[in-house]
Amino acid sequence: MTPAALLDGVVHGTAAVQRRAMSKAITLLESTRPDHRAQGDALLTQLLPHTGKAFRLGISGVPGVGKSTFIEALGLYLIGQGHRVAVLTIDPSSTVSGGSILGDKTRMEHLSMDERAYIRPSPSSGTLGGVAEKTREAMLVCEAAGYDVVIVETVGVGQSEIAVNGMTDMFVLLQLPNAGDDLQAIKKGVMEIADLVVINKADIDKNAATRAEAQITSSLRLLGQHGNPENAHHNETLWHPRVVQISALLGQGVDAFWAAVTQFRQLQTANGRLAARREKQALAWMWERIDAGLKLAFRQHPQVKELLPQMQADVAAGRIAASTAARNLLQAQSNHALAAIK
Ligand code: GDP
Repeated sequence: MTPAALLDGVVHGTAAVQRRAMSKAITLLESTRPDHRAQGDALLTQLLPHTGKAFRLGISGVPGVGKSTFIEALGLYLIGQGHRVAVLTIDPSSTVSGGSILGDKTRMEHLSMDERAYIRPSPSSGTLGGVAEKTREAMLVCEAAGYDVVIVETVGVGQSEIAVNGMTDMFVLLQLPNAGDDLQAIKKGVMEIADLVVINKADIDKNAATRAEAQITSSLRLLGQHGNPENAHHNETLWHPRVVQISALLGQGVDAFWAAVTQFRQLQTANGRLAARREKQALAWMWERIDAGLKLAFRQHPQVKELLPQMQADVAAGRIAASTAARNLLQAQSNHALAAIK
């Protein structure tokens, strides 16, 4: 398909044409070939006016907490309400080992068979920043195709949750009903960014789930007082992070969950924080990609390449200070650039 046909297929295609065009568009955007990248950028620019209307929901939790069971239940519930749901994943294990925590098993069997749902697994290689970039772009494709709820799922390793929080309107953390888990999340800085905490598997032990709810609620209050200033909105009268209990397996509590999400969305839209969050995310994304691009260009620079092994050896052996080596390398690059201008 030409880029124009892709665009047309994504935005206006019939269901089958649209799915094919979406998959092709996302594959194009995932490609690292420079000519593909140029086509991908042109496509993104044209898709952009059709994006932004979806609600972007981030969901995270440790393996086994019930993410795929929950997303399947939620997805089917939302479809029943007339929504179209896209599910994207960021699988940090693929960026480290090339393996996959999330992708190996058949996940969300019923949802994946429904025409009103679109499920796309994580890009399977690259740095976390690179994978996050591809996922953001895939999200735009889904939005342009009219999916009005985009779920971005990740497994809990700290960094990937921060990445998901950086591309979604609301961040939801799934927890198990046993005490101690919340401490893990606090340690990794994940509880601080949660807008909503969901205690899953409440059917197994209702008492434990209720205890966990009370504990996490009080942790969230403490974090709200002393937490990350990035999340200052949590301190204000507008939205206070909350805890809900569900059973993803039995489909219990999904409606209460969605009611909380809807309330969050209404509040954050009315007080302007949703728009501000997206603006900040877009700029942060731009700078992150600039940083990554500069670093890559730096490493590929001929003078830097020539000098780098020596500098690394000198720093490792303690013959030269790390900061001096960094300055020498940066100098090598900029001298060369200046010479080229002259
Ligand atoms: P993921 O690794 O986070 O995606 O977790 P899964 O959705 O694959 O769930 C892991 C296991 O927990 C599966 O055997 C599920 O059937 C089970 N499970 C998920 N949600 C619930 C629940 O609400 N109650 C019970 N009892 N089991 C659940």
